[in-house]
Parts: sequence; C-alpha cells; structure tokens
Amino acid sequence: MTVEICTVSGFDDVGRNMVAVRVDDEVVICDMGIHLENYMKLTDEEEENSSSLNRDALIKARAIPDDGLISEWKGMVKAIVPSHAHLDHLGAIPYLAHHYDAPIMNTPYTVQVLRHLLEDNDVRLRNKLQVVEPNGRVKLSKNITLEMVNITHSTPHTAMVVIHTPAGAIVYANDFKLDDTPTLGKPPNYARLAELEKEGTLAIFIDSTNADVDAKTPSEKVAKDMLSDVLMSQRHNGRGIIVTTFSSHIARLKSIIEIGQKMGRKVVILGRSMAKYISAAEEISLVDFKGKAEIVRFSAKVGEKLRKIDRDGKEKYLIICTGHQGEPKSVLSKIASGLLNFNMGPQDAIVFSCRVIPTPTNRKNRERLESHLRRTNVRIFKDVHQSGHASGQDVRYVLELLKPKHIIPSHGAKASKDAVRRMATMLGYGERQVHMAHDGQRVILSP
Ligand SMILES: [Zn+2]
Repeated sequence: MTVEICTVSGFDDVGRNMVAVRVDDEVVICDMGIHLENYMKLTDEEEENSSSLNRDALIKARAIPDDGLISEWKGMVKAIVPSHAHLDHLGAIPYLAHHYDAPIMNTPYTVQVLRHLLEDNDVRLRNKLQVVEPNGRVKLSKNITLEMVNITHSTPHTAMVVIHTPAGAIVYANDFKLDDTPTLGKPPNYARLAELEKEGTLAIFIDSTNADVDAKTPSEKVAKDMLSDVLMSQRHNGRGIIVTTFSSHIARLKSIIEIGQKMGRKVVILGRSMAKYISAAEEISLVDFKGKAEIVRFSAKVGEKLRKIDRDGKEKYLIICTGHQGEPKSVLSKIASGLLNFNMGPQDAIVFSCRVIPTPTNRKNRERLESHLRRTNVRIFKDVHQSGHASGQDVRYVLELLKPKHIIPSHGAKASKDAVRRMATMLGYGERQVHMAHDGQRVILSP
C-alpha cells in the first residue's frame, strides 16, 4: 500500500489551505480555502459580485489553490473535507469542487456556512453535501474511513479530520487550540486522540500558527472574562459602547450578548457577515439569539437603526458590528468616517475583541480606522481577545499524545514551522520524519 501526500497549497504562504492524501488509487482532499487578502484585492478591483471571477484568474492571483498540481489524481478523489467554517479552509469550494465527482463532507455548522457561501456566490454544486456529526465516522471505501474528531478553535464544530488507512491514521489538525473550558460546544476529544496513538498514527498536519510561542493558548473563558472586565467598567456615565469581533466567532458573540444583557443593555448586531454566520448557527440550533439580540443585516437599515439608538440614548444599547480589521466597507469603518452620521465621543467606548491579523492590508486599514476614531477622542480598548490557535506547548502536547510517525507543519510563517521542527527534533524525530513542505510537493509516507 502506498500513502502519498500532496501539500497543494497554503505551505508557501498562510491561507488558501489544501492538502490531498492518496491511498493507492483513492484520494481525499482536506480543505479548499481562499487566501483572504489576495481574494479581497481581486474582488475589490472587480467591484462586482465575486461569482464573475473565474478559477484561472483566482489561481493566478494566488487567491485559491492551484489544484492543477494534482490533475492526474482528479478521477480518484473520493471526498472533499473542510476541517471547519473559516474561509481559508472552505472559501474556494464554490470555484473548485465541481471539478471533482466527490461529496463534500463536514460537520453541521461547516455545512451550513458552506450553504450560505454557495448561495451568496450563486453557485449550485453537483457535489453532495454530507453532514458528519462531530466525532462521527464515515466509511469511504474498503481502505479509507473518515473521522471528524471534535476539537476547539474560534468557530463552532471544528474537527481534526482523521483519514484511517490500513497503513495508519493521517490526522489533519488545521486549525485547532486546546480549550478545556470552551464557552460554546465541547472540549477536545482527548480520549479519542489517545486511542489514535494506540491504533497507530502515520502522520499529522499540524497548525503551527503560534507554535513559536512558549505558552498554552488561554481558553475562550479567559476571553469572556477579559471582555466582562472591560465592558462592566464602562457601564456608568451614559457611555455608548461598540464591540467588534470576528463574524464567525459564535462563542465570542454569545459572550458579548450575555455581558450586554447583564449590563441591562439592548444588544444590537450590525452587518451582513455577522448576520450570515449567526443565521448558520441558529439554523442548526447551535445558539438562539432571538429575543437576546436584534440583528440588522442590510446596510440600508443600519443607518436607520443607529439614528434610533442615538434618539433613544446610546447608554441603553450595546452595539456589536463588523470592522475589527478595519475593513473599509464595514459598519465600524463607516461609523468612524462619519458616513452613518452616528457620532462617537469621549464618553463612548470602542472595544476590539480581536487581534490584528498581521498582513500589510490589515495594518493599513486598522491604522486608518484608528486615526479616524482618535479624532473623536473615543475610548479605545484593543486586543480584548484570546487566540483560536494552539501555542507551542499545546502543539507539543498533541505530538506527544498521538506520536505520529511523520510530522508536516502547516498554517504558519516560517519561524512558526521551524519551531515545530525543533520541537520534533527534541522529541527524538529524525530528519526524514519532519517534512517542511512547499506548495505542490509530494511525499510518500513510509510506514
Ligand atoms: Zn481557522
């Protein structure tokens, strides 16, 4: 039996993740993501619906994976399996999946987000969308069984995708953190991970984002405590409060709503992307924000709502909106540049429940946003946040727990992936067991 991997994309830069695993004449694809920054550049230039973009232009712009690198494996693909609902893991499905005669398998929340994404892009796929419950298994063929081991991250129903083969398990751990006290969903399935070690793990693709930080990534519960600390300190003096965070971070949104309720404020959520990810979560009964928060989806209505908030008194509300990275078209950017006629002043607070994702565009956008905000003397609270990615000690824990024969550091800058390599050497791994892969590289995994 031959097990060969192709690190199709996401190994030369961070984003547009895609990996293919071949077991003799059968192939499983993990992830089909976009490179968000390259994608946005292209869609901004087009100034149109993204459905007008074609595959070749997107590949050329390094916005989606170049799946031509596995063209001769095309007929062998048995399943496409995104590990979670982030766009850098599933955003290229509308452009690439229809080239494969294979079902798309993912956990309920991921499927629901994908359905919204396809609708937004006006794409109808012939691929079947198959729901696999967290910790569920699907037998694909005589030689391959898929398993979606429940793990924690910054969006619900994230899975460590396990491809079981007669030569051992291949674990796709991209992305994850180890959160023993999540505020939504279950903690990591450590019991199952320990069993995988006994059954034999052939290889792991491991999220290296924060692997160069000697720490344990704090729980989402800590992020909630940080938010509570900041927000409760602002409850007096008739202050207006705006919180901005990741639209797909449903656990974080749930925490902000709960704190808003505790403060006796009406919670209003503004922005299309917020509404989209919340709808996906509500449709599968993961959360129910009805009666707890009012959601305003369309930009035409956002201005109207803000005027009402101004008239009623800002101190009665807690606003959650898009714009944490300073995205120019976001609600927060429009508020800051005065486009929505909603004035923020020295008595008001803006809370960034996020960290700036360090790309040149984000840095530039955030600088512009903050310079607009500073003109109003508003109180700014930054980095009220905990990461969704494992730190060095979490990565070490997983490597020691699973004892994979091969390690492929993924999803990270060179320094982070080098940290995984050093860790592997320290744990006794040889050079031939740690693969510092590039895009399009193929490796046959020796048992
Ligand atoms: Zn992610």
